[in-house]
Amino acid sequence: MFESIPVEVGLVHEGERVRKQDMQVELGGPSVLEKFEIVRVRKMDEIIDGTIEITGPDISEMPEGKATPIGILVEIAGEKVEPDLEGVVERRIHEYSNYIEGFMHLNQRYDIWIRLSKKSYKKGLNSLRYIGLVMLDLFKNELPIIEKIQITFITDPREIQPLYAEALKTYEARDARARGLSDDDVSEFYGCALCQSFAPTHVCVITPQRYANCGAISWFDGRAAAGIDPKGPIYAIPKGECLDAEKGEYAGVNESAKQRSMGEVNRVWLYTAFGYPHTSCGCFEGIAFYIPEVDGFGIVLRSYRDLTVNGLAFSTMADSTAGGRQIDGFHGISLEYMRSKKFLDADGGYRRVVWMPKESKERLAEFIPADVVPAIATESDVHNIDELKNFLAEKHHPVTERWAADAAAAEDAAPQVQVFSAGDIPITTPGFRIILKNAKITAEKVIIQPIRPHTKPGGEHN
Ligand code: SF4
Repeated sequence: MFESIPVEVGLVHEGERVRKQDMQVELGGPSVLEKFEIVRVRKMDEIIDGTIEITGPDISEMPEGKATPIGILVEIAGEKVEPDLEGVVERRIHEYSNYIEGFMHLNQRYDIWIRLSKKSYKKGLNSLRYIGLVMLDLFKNELPIIEKIQITFITDPREIQPLYAEALKTYEARDARARGLSDDDVSEFYGCALCQSFAPTHVCVITPQRYANCGAISWFDGRAAAGIDPKGPIYAIPKGECLDAEKGEYAGVNESAKQRSMGEVNRVWLYTAFGYPHTSCGCFEGIAFYIPEVDGFGIVLRSYRDLTVNGLAFSTMADSTAGGRQIDGFHGISLEYMRSKKFLDADGGYRRVVWMPKESKERLAEFIPADVVPAIATESDVHNIDELKNFLAEKHHPVTERWAADAAAAEDAAPQVQVFSAGDIPITTPGFRIILKNAKITAEKVIIQPIRPHTKPGGEHN
């Protein structure tokens, strides 16, 4: 099927990583501001089937080891092809292009990050035309409702700019469509297992109020995809009994997660970052990260390049968040989920959010309760946790009520807690080393108190 392509193409190459030192070129990625991929539905007579166009320099003309702007426009037509399908067909760009040996595609929409390996380049993969040929074949074979398709790669920044602006408007219109619909209005959710090549136990659960982590698939998109290809990677999940409305636990979702994760994930709580949180692959648009010192959440989007308030960058926390695991306090999220009324609902929603980048806060301000907006700190207000604590106290952020409640509970509990016991050995006596091997310790509460030096009669210290 791919005889004309100079490298291998197949499932076996999905999930391959191309490290910086091994890359011939990078297309898009963190250092390129304007980049996009988009699928648009056209009328049959608007498409010349099989056309691949390249506007701007091709791979062989790009400087080695450097990042280049990129736009990918895929136009499709067919009797049964509807605009509802644009989002799901678009997500297949990620899947299909990753089949190409030495070609790594990450993220989606305005966030794409592509690398081509030196090895594949040396084998002859020196033109975007090859990438287009693979995509043409796979789209038509895997999604037969597509009768006509044409692909344009844009690498000239002057050409990218207007198309990028138009693409942003299209994404926003798609996202806005699912707003207003609630989980209670539907009997089915949708699951997506497209990212299992990167995180084998991860499945996205897409509900009207929880957009996919990658920000590319809404509940409407899920419905359209499951309708045209019910056995494909996007499938219907009958909700089943609601087991916990606040946390967002449904019998049908648990059952589906169990099956699709091969028994690794047995329960999913859709609207909390604790307990049994929704898993994260690696494509999430942002991370909600717990800050124990203030009992609140920080939010960081992928586009934020600086360190966050806890001293960690997005990329560092992404390692802790990704991989299809359920990790307390590191939670992959999409931008659209942050606009949902159910956003981290069981944890307090925005009343628990204490820090986010200024740009994100301004962008989402209309979805944050008006009284909380001024109390959420940004990089312009604070630079570390101590400053954050002071800021939150000064602004009477809702989390400060939790601090007062926690302090009162600690005081009540203190007299009943045995601080430490180690037989007859006074633990603070100098000269002893206490080693606990293979110990399993559980504690109701841990209290750390400063040790004050004993004062002997006459004022001498031990
Ligand atoms: S992040 Fe989720 S919805 Fe998006 S492609 Fe991956 S599995 Fe599918």
